[in-house]
Amino acid sequence: MVSNGSSADFYVVLARSGASSPARSPAGLSLFVVDADSPGITVDRTEPMGWRAADPATVSFEDVRVPLGQAVGRPNSGFYQLMRGFQLERVVAAVLALGGADRSLQVTRDHLVRRQAFGARLADLQAVRHRTADLATELAVARQLVYHAAWRYSRDDMGSVRECSMAKLYATEMASRLADLCLQLHGAHGYVDDTEVARIFRDTRAATIAAGPSEVMRDIVARFEIDETPAP
Ligand SMILES: Cc1cc2nc3c(=O)[nH]c(=O)nc-3n(C[C@H](O)[C@H](O)[C@H](O)COP(=O)(O)OP(=O)(O)OC[C@H]3O[C@@H](n4cnc5c(N)ncnc54)[C@H](O)[C@@H]3O)c2cc1C
Repeated sequence: MVSNGSSADFYVVLARSGASSPARSPAGLSLFVVDADSPGITVDRTEPMGWRAADPATVSFEDVRVPLGQAVGRPNSGFYQLMRGFQLERVVAAVLALGGADRSLQVTRDHLVRRQAFGARLADLQAVRHRTADLATELAVARQLVYHAAWRYSRDDMGSVRECSMAKLYATEMASRLADLCLQLHGAHGYVDDTEVARIFRDTRAATIAAGPSEVMRDIVARFEIDETPAP
């Protein structure tokens, strides 16, 4: 799935260029700018469950010829070039997750105050108040972690891999959990396709997958916590 896949004029593609490199090796990969109308490219628009403004599509390549002049940077070092962008992508994904979670909580607070059930506001039920307090606390924790990662990134991009991966992991999973509970607090009023709380629920679900799934973030953090921590 590629964002802006059907509207893009060109794609930035990572392709194996060093024939002698082992298949899973990050060496021997190069970045190319490939014109979207090149022969051999087919684009299938997909209908995503959320992120509907992202114009996602499946882009397939078969025997596409690309002039050498459209290579980006040094040949066979594409993965390392891409790696430099991963930290920014992770921080941006975490910031987007914070925005969605913040809005979801705001909309839910408004609903809880307005909605009368069993002769009182939903906002007056202790179970609801406690859940709201927990969600606000989790959001505050995520915000501090993400701001810290962004600060570390601004000082040293490749020195912030651990923090950016933690921020992406925690903020996107928190946002997904929070959006689910906010929908719960709306009851049937939230289980309607065109409500804001339902849209945020669908959007946040993509965030734990796109820009590297949570499992990959956990692998990266574990590398720092286990493999790169000196044995006692
Ligand atoms: C809305 C949206 C927009 C996107 N836009 C872009 C884009 O513009 N450009 C782009 O390049 N990509 C884009 N992606 C693709 C996205 O980066 C991939 O979906 C993501 O990296 C996961 O790869 P995959 O979907 O091929 O899942 P797979 O690699 O098939 O993995 C499936 C699942 O297996 C598990 N898994 C995967 N790897 C591991 C592992 N190492 N250890 C343990 N478990 C694992 C995870 O649960 C994962 O979700 C987009 C995705 C979405 C949802």
